[in-house]
Amino acid sequence: MKTNVGSQKLSPDCLFCKILAGEIPANRVYEDEFCIGFPDINPQAPTHLLVIPKEHIASQAKALAEHKPLLGHLMSAVADLARMQKLDKGYRVVVNTGDEGGQTVQHLHLHLLGGRPMTWPPG
Ligand code: 5GP
Ligand code: ZN
Repeated sequence: MKTNVGSQKLSPDCLFCKILAGEIPANRVYEDEFCIGFPDINPQAPTHLLVIPKEHIASQAKALAEHKPLLGHLMSAVADLARMQKLDKGYRVVVNTGDEGGQTVQHLHLHLLGGRPMTWPPG
């Protein structure tokens, strides 16, 4: 079934758009019509993957009402990926947003962290 939850709109100066375009290499451990998943270059846990939409959205704060189905899709894709990675004991999904949120790459991404116990509160 075709659903209207994404597109191929990329931004030329964006690091993750360059990964989507194949200009910067990344090992796509997950891919579907709307997003890809690949290992973080600087892992903070035994499993540390990033899931990004195939459309350039600068951050969660910049997502529009029309992106609602895509945001739901990303959460569902992360859960599928966690199952594929056999993170049966649990995992953490993080969406750093904006300066105080610690966001360093301005393309919406979900961190999937697992393989060790997580602590709370985060830094
Ligand atoms: P943020 O800090 O914006 O939440 O997360 C950005 C993440 O992207 C960081 O964890 C960082 O290690 C990762 N990252 C930055 N550049 C690259 C890259 O070129 N390739 C990959 N795979 N990850 C990257
Ligand atoms: Zn982008």
